[in-house]
Amino acid sequence: MIYLDYSATTPVGFEVLDTYNRTSKDFFGNPNSLHELGVKTKNLMNSATKQIAEIFNILDSEITYTNGATEANNIALIGSALEYHKKGKHIIISKLEHPSIYAICDYLESIGFEISYVKNDEEGLVDFDDLKSLIRPDTILVSICAVNSETGVRQPLKMIRQIIKKENSETIFHSDMTQAVGKVSVNLHDVDMATFTGHKIYGPKGIGVLYKNSSVRLMPILYGSGKSNMLNPGTPPVPLIVALSKAVRLSTTDIEKRERFIERLNNKIVDALSKYEGVIINKTKYSIPHILNISLRNIKAETFLHALEEYEIYVSSNTACSSGNLSTSVLAIYNDKVRASSTLRISLSHLTTTDEVNKFIEYFDQIYKKLSGLHG
Ligand code: PLP
Repeated sequence: MIYLDYSATTPVGFEVLDTYNRTSKDFFGNPNSLHELGVKTKNLMNSATKQIAEIFNILDSEITYTNGATEANNIALIGSALEYHKKGKHIIISKLEHPSIYAICDYLESIGFEISYVKNDEEGLVDFDDLKSLIRPDTILVSICAVNSETGVRQPLKMIRQIIKKENSETIFHSDMTQAVGKVSVNLHDVDMATFTGHKIYGPKGIGVLYKNSSVRLMPILYGSGKSNMLNPGTPPVPLIVALSKAVRLSTTDIEKRERFIERLNNKIVDALSKYEGVIINKTKYSIPHILNISLRNIKAETFLHALEEYEIYVSSNTACSSGNLSTSVLAIYNDKVRASSTLRISLSHLTTTDEVNKFIEYFDQIYKKLSGLHG
């Protein structure tokens, strides 16, 4: 198998799985229980949270665990909209968001919030002047994805924050950092709220994080019992939390070295695929090397994807969550429906080998020639 779909999800790390198994076995108590086993489990959970907080230089109390990034985005966006609706009902997002953000904003629009979409330039970067002009006294929230899941375009969050806060110091800045954490270094102090998920960083599936600066208030959207966290009540999944803290530590170590290696693999694929007339490389100067997007002229991306699958090579068409549709991100950057109608995403990891990339290039060539009619 040649797995080139690391941005859809990652395999769980061996050490992470081991941590999960050991915690499940030895610390199965409920951290809300008052007896010794409960207290021991709670202490372990608290030290895992402390480790995550230290890595990101934030407070333990600023972390809320969720079941993934989608849930974290819901708690962040709906929670802030409901909390601050008396101040205003205006929200700004970019055209390079994950479908979960669009779905939440559609819901918020249906209950009376106004959503504005900030423009981006031809490199995919948020248009600062447009952002400035959109911010109003009643703008309660701006949400901008740190790294776009389809094209890898990375936004300068620090600069975006400065613009937002200069125009309206009370506007909250949220960023979906799902495709950034573990791939590139992030600074949570660039934003007021951030979300990410374990399954993109070699962590277990079913656990995500909402970071909320202590100055931000959120109206809970989930209600229940349990004292651990008001925003996500119930019994915390301690084995997932402890395994996540290991995944965060491992995936944020050696990040630059890994990025340089991935960059070489990315360049190798770009060099090989650029020679085909029917392939357009959707890479801008702000794309991180882990995510490589291409458009296919006259070949359906899904047909190509399934042809690669015959050789056990796995890639995505658009994002795993929106397959079959136009690529909204490619459309937002290049403003070309044909180019956005058939896109493949090849996503790389430090686990990808040069040999895998060579084989991918070889099979790509065979399939391309076959599907574009060059070889019967
Ligand atoms: N946000 C981004 C940018 C993503 O890439 C994804 C998954 O593809 C999600 C959110 C959803 O994450 P989860 O599957 O943990 O809900």
